[in-house]
Amino acid sequence: MSLRLEVNPIACAGHGLCADLLPELIELDEWGFPIIHERVPASLAAHARRAVSACPALALKLTRAPAARRETRGAQPEPAARAAR
Ligand code: SF4
Repeated sequence: MSLRLEVNPIACAGHGLCADLLPELIELDEWGFPIIHERVPASLAAHARRAVSACPALALKLTRAPAARRETRGAQPEPAARAAR
């Protein structure tokens, strides 16, 4: 299971603490607000949880990333694609 890190830009107060705790995934913009690389590798999951817990504005959230879409063998094309042929 992969994780995804999100910030609520309304709640975020731009403290910058998260970037100190998780510099691998969070940079600060020129105003001190976080720019987040959303996909969290398993090796950084514990650090991401710590950053979420430490955010004084409760603006960070860790969720499960949607599973990668898999192609199904033998799948039929969509009707619109068939009509275009
Ligand atoms: S620690 Fe929380 S409030 Fe501070 S910049 Fe990061 S997300 Fe925003």
